[in-house]
Amino acid sequence: MRDVVILGSGCAGWTAALYLARANLKPLVLTGAQMGGLLTTTSIVENFPGFPKGVDGTTLMAQMMEQAQKFGAEVEFGVVADEVIMGKPVHRIRAGNKIVETKALIVSTGAGHRHLDVPGEKELETKGVTYCATCDGALPMFRDQPLVVVGGGDSACEEATFLTRFASKVYLIHRRSELRASRIMAERALGNPKIQPVWNSVVESVEGLGSGKVTGVKLKDTVSGKSSLLSCAGLFIAVGHVPNTQIFRNKLAMDESGYLTLGPGSRTNIEGVFGAGDCADKVYRQAITAAGMGCMAAIDAERYLAGS
Ligand code: NAP
Repeated sequence: MRDVVILGSGCAGWTAALYLARANLKPLVLTGAQMGGLLTTTSIVENFPGFPKGVDGTTLMAQMMEQAQKFGAEVEFGVVADEVIMGKPVHRIRAGNKIVETKALIVSTGAGHRHLDVPGEKELETKGVTYCATCDGALPMFRDQPLVVVGGGDSACEEATFLTRFASKVYLIHRRSELRASRIMAERALGNPKIQPVWNSVVESVEGLGSGKVTGVKLKDTVSGKSSLLSCAGLFIAVGHVPNTQIFRNKLAMDESGYLTLGPGSRTNIEGVFGAGDCADKVYRQAITAAGMGCMAAIDAERYLAGS
């Protein structure tokens, strides 16, 4: 029987682990499939306080883990919770054949990439369709080729800017005529001579099924309704995220998009279960806010365990 288990290993999870370890509660972190979460798919993080030169997302996550472990946090890598049976005073987590019992549970399962759900997207994934420029941008198949990024947020701008290192040209496809991205990211992208924005356009399909790799995208102009073909060797999809809360459906309170609804503080609707980070935040979704939410969840869990 554990005092507290943390599901997820992003900023929220590691911060919660650090606080709980320092409180001598020996938290167990089940990292999920992707240790470090979405931040490990980003390039340089420039807005996490304390790093004036920026910090690589993967490095930041590794250092957070090291800090939590130093105070006694235990980690099980690659363990994904399949089911959580909530009960007072014990919650049971099933991960494959393994059952973990805990008095308090912190859900910091983060978010995953949203898909476009258009023909060709699934079939050509890893054959030119990708959701992570940092992970795949340097692949030989994309070198000196025209590439397409879809989306209008910070992620799309960051990915497009990053890809200019490798691509001959980057088309930034956005469904409106104005970016959602923060000013600094938008200006950086739009000021790059290798990036060409394509406004008021959506991807209708990904072309290349016959060739076994992406050869282009079919676009639809949202104003004129006209369709056109754009040749490219890669499609980088950056259209936001969906919270990883599927296993909690009909168990924990969540909004229509699947984000956990919390309060007061980090409490969910189930006693002894707390939420933190991107799985419970559709407004801010920053590394630093996730870390702050992890801290809140740890303090709430500690007080719950102390009976206060
Ligand atoms: P986001 O802000 O939710 O933006 C998603 C973009 O995709 C929007 O422009 C949206 O269009 C578009 N979109 C959504 N569904 C679409 C669809 N089906 N077809 C076409 N376009 C679609 O997501 P994000 O850019 O991943 O950013 C998420 C959070 O992480 C934000 O809070 C952001 O600030 C943060 N972030 C920060 C940094 C940084 O500071 N370094 C880097 C990356 C991300 P509309 O605009 O029309 O809705």
